[in-house]
Amino acid sequence: MLKVFLKKDRERPVLRGHPWVFSGAIERTEGDETRVSVADIFDGKKNWLARGHYNPQTALRIRVLTRKNEAIDRTFFASRLTHAFSLRERHFSEATDAYRIVNGEGDFLPGLIVDRYGSFLVCQFLTAGMEAFKEEIALILSELLPVSGIFERSEGRVRREEGIEDSVGVLSGDAPPELVPIRENGHNFLVDLRRGQKTGFFLDQRDNRALVAQFAREKTVLNCFGYTGGFSVYAFAGGAKTVTTFDSSHPALELTEKNLAANGIAESQGELIKGDAFSYLKETDQLFDLIILDPPALAHKRTDVEAASGGYKFLNLHAFKHLNPGGVLLTFSCSQHVPADLFQKIVFGAAVDAQRSATILRRLGAPIDHPVSLHHPEGEYLKGLALRLLD
Ligand code: SAH
Repeated sequence: MLKVFLKKDRERPVLRGHPWVFSGAIERTEGDETRVSVADIFDGKKNWLARGHYNPQTALRIRVLTRKNEAIDRTFFASRLTHAFSLRERHFSEATDAYRIVNGEGDFLPGLIVDRYGSFLVCQFLTAGMEAFKEEIALILSELLPVSGIFERSEGRVRREEGIEDSVGVLSGDAPPELVPIRENGHNFLVDLRRGQKTGFFLDQRDNRALVAQFAREKTVLNCFGYTGGFSVYAFAGGAKTVTTFDSSHPALELTEKNLAANGIAESQGELIKGDAFSYLKETDQLFDLIILDPPALAHKRTDVEAASGGYKFLNLHAFKHLNPGGVLLTFSCSQHVPADLFQKIVFGAAVDAQRSATILRRLGAPIDHPVSLHHPEGEYLKGLALRLLD
């Protein structure tokens, strides 16, 4: 097995359970360092520290899998997957049959995402290391949870950085239908596992969608960046007077229409608008009682943070300006590089510039099926605020 020796005094993060080792921390290696493999990590004094997936192609050179001296094999993955699955099993029932089963580092399985959508699973193998265990993992998953099929959506930036091609298609069992029906808190949704964003649905907003239902009674609602109408369905269920779903994606709005219908909401009740939310929020002369702002990640790297802050400020400023007195704003950022305290400062700046006074009703985040490793705070990408205006 490849041996990786860290530079002097660079072992602290590994000892404290952080799962990432960057190339800059490595002094030297012993063995074939040119290929993707499982590697042992040692400190500068040759003490064994941990074992993880090694990829020579990326600056994020090792993703730590274990700090115990155990083999990285089928037994290892079966044990981690069983641990992950037992958390979800306890929390979800018939009312919710779509949730995340494996959340990468948050389930001590860096590079692996597994989502359940009814009788289908969708997997993302994001690293070359995890890619090598694809068959074993698919097999263990189908033993853990008898499903009709497992679909793969391994694509995106991380794979490119890892030097591997996208891989999309059926991994085992049946191919999913064009639209897979799911239930979330008793509401019906159709999900496009093949072409939908992320793995098809924003499972990470489940609890926040439920919160919207609590605020929606008799309210006029704007669901900005509405995607397939998740928040809109809950707003209607909570008794909203009107709900405007706004998104730049035509397929997303088409699916919104289907999702409203799947929950018995008449087409005439909801308005769907396609366009750019930035210009709409600035220009519309409508006022709302409740606005949901859930933009895509505006910062993908650390160097984007300044520009992203400007984007978040703009959106929140114009949302504040378009809320009725006493109105509620649910505002989110899913940028990993924008921490919660910075996001709150940005939203505060927006309120000041809009000359509105607001209170924080609740700080928002991802639900229980998206655990974040205490040792890897970078995994906490979704943050939000529920705010209420004074006047
Ligand atoms: N709140 C949604 C998820 C939103 S994801 C849910 O709970 O399901 C972000 C959405 O923003 C995507 O649907 C994307 O199509 C849309 N989007 C991206 N840029 C946009 C823009 N400039 N204007 C409007 N919508 C945009």
